[in-house]
Amino acid sequence: MHKKSSKHGETRRKKRTRTGSSRLNIENIVSSMFSDISIALGISRLGLTENELKKIVRNVIEHLLSNISYRPSKSVILNRVLRGRLRFAPIVSETILDLRKELSEDLLEYVVNFGGPVCAANIRRLYLESLRRKREDLLGLLREAWDTYGKPLPIRCPRCGFSSIKPDLTCIVCGYSVKEKEFKEIIGFNDLFHIFLELTDELGLRRTLENQIVVYDPNEGLKPPPPRYGKIQYVVPLEEEELVKIEEKLGLRKPRLKEVEEERKTVKEEKRKVKEKPTLDMFLRVNTE
Ligand SMILES: [Zn+2]
Repeated sequence: MHKKSSKHGETRRKKRTRTGSSRLNIENIVSSMFSDISIALGISRLGLTENELKKIVRNVIEHLLSNISYRPSKSVILNRVLRGRLRFAPIVSETILDLRKELSEDLLEYVVNFGGPVCAANIRRLYLESLRRKREDLLGLLREAWDTYGKPLPIRCPRCGFSSIKPDLTCIVCGYSVKEKEFKEIIGFNDLFHIFLELTDELGLRRTLENQIVVYDPNEGLKPPPPRYGKIQYVVPLEEEELVKIEEKLGLRKPRLKEVEEERKTVKEEKRKVKEKPTLDMFLRVNTE
């Protein structure tokens, strides 16, 4: 019947790909096949309601049909879903996250195991839901998804263990705010600072002293300011003790007796504080984009 005339055949095909008729086609497939397709997707026993399953199946079928130019038979559809169940898992996961405010343990397990990029996009929520469900065993998979599909940062968070400390020293995933002292420990600041003092030229040291910060680049160690655009770099405010070392290196002061030093320190800290805040903020704005 399709071959009556090639002209007719063409008109028919064009009609079929129109949104109206494919919409009808999708609704038809969803209502008659959602049960089989749910099984093929491996989501029939996750405690989803019939309506929820239909929504998920609809999204999957829409995606499937958008890549096929002909009208596939039911068995072709089922086959494709079965073969593509992992490929469709992010679509399924995303729909599940849209449908539920909180995930059951089964749903959480499914999304974390198969969601891939969807896990990375919803990393904070899934981290919190895993903790709420006491499923710390899922965090390893979440970290992998974050490292593969997310935006892993060079500094690991001491609280949640994800590579997720932003240049403003807060964690993308758990929200933890790393203390300056803690940050210095994480990067092994003292050794780096020693090398920095040895290798930095006079101009660099003077710039550092003026801004009272150094820039930590995970690939290059400590650098004089300013941080460079487009690179992930961390601004580290310097303490009095470190500023004094730079001054000594520049020959601006001679090593002093301790008591005199303490006295000077209090006076100098007061003076320096005025400058510190705006400078740091300015650099952070540049660096976090
Ligand atoms: Zn964290």
